[in-house]
Amino acid sequence: MRCIKCAHKASVELRRHHSAYCPPHYLEFVRNQVARNIKRLKMFTQQERILVAVSGGKDSLALWDLLLEAGYSASGLHIHLGIGDYSVRSAQTTRAFADERKAELIEFDLERELGLGVPELSKVLKRAPCSGCGLNKRYFFNKIALDQGFDVVATGHNLDDETATLLGNVLHWQHDSLSRQSPVLERTHPKLVKKVKPLYSLTEREMASYCLLKGIDYMEEECPNAAGAHSLLYKDVLNRIEFESPGSKQQFLQGFLDRFRPLLQANDTTELRECAVCGQATTSEICSFCRMRDRAKRHVEPASANRNS
Ligand code: SF4
Ligand code: ZN
Ligand code: ZN
Repeated sequence: MRCIKCAHKASVELRRHHSAYCPPHYLEFVRNQVARNIKRLKMFTQQERILVAVSGGKDSLALWDLLLEAGYSASGLHIHLGIGDYSVRSAQTTRAFADERKAELIEFDLERELGLGVPELSKVLKRAPCSGCGLNKRYFFNKIALDQGFDVVATGHNLDDETATLLGNVLHWQHDSLSRQSPVLERTHPKLVKKVKPLYSLTEREMASYCLLKGIDYMEEECPNAAGAHSLLYKDVLNRIEFESPGSKQQFLQGFLDRFRPLLQANDTTELRECAVCGQATTSEICSFCRMRDRAKRHVEPASANRNS
């Protein structure tokens, strides 16, 4: 197998692009894909301040690396989720990456803020861990970006994440989620920061190859709560389709974004207002984060009162 650019020995084959690359040309391919996504979808400019949501996994660290390397003003935000040793190791990996590059890293502790980490929150709310975790992450990414004057929040969602979410949304006909699924969510309210996904056209395997070739030390260990998540089943199904028919994932997502999402947007009548408690943008009087925090508080306060008595 030879590199399609220089004919040297290729180390990464991309069947969906009918191509193969040597290490330097593979890195160039990834950089070009990301640069093209940023430019074509007007994600951000060199003058804007970007807050990168970093978990310590391959996608978020690769994204941060790509943005820093391209000269963007990109700070990291790591949220401590309180998921035992997994969270401890995620924070260590993220810190080591930031220290090595002398990049600004903002750390936020969910347990300190709510009095509960993701596992306890899941028990209190009687909901799957990922549901409370996702709600908190979305809320604090936006709030911290707003409070600290960032122009945009960038996340490391890749093609596999996006197609698995799309499949789940279609299987359950989640109308609201479908209309919000996009690599760019513009600022539609003064309390909402723009959200972008510059890696949305690259697969998980492609990002892992990028990290390997760049020597990025990332957390290979998955969150223990990921095991039961439906998204893994959807990814597995999509991988089988992709294997038989390379390019299917890209077609599925791009077809939705080009042809179907504009129809949903044209009929979108969602009106946003400020939450009566915290002032963040929401569709209801009190936002779902404040309602969740209220339930969590009612659980935590009696427990601490018992301890103090
Ligand atoms: Fe949170 Fe679920 Fe992801 Fe774990 S797998 S980090 S609980 S969203
Ligand atoms: Zn080459
Ligand atoms: Zn609120």
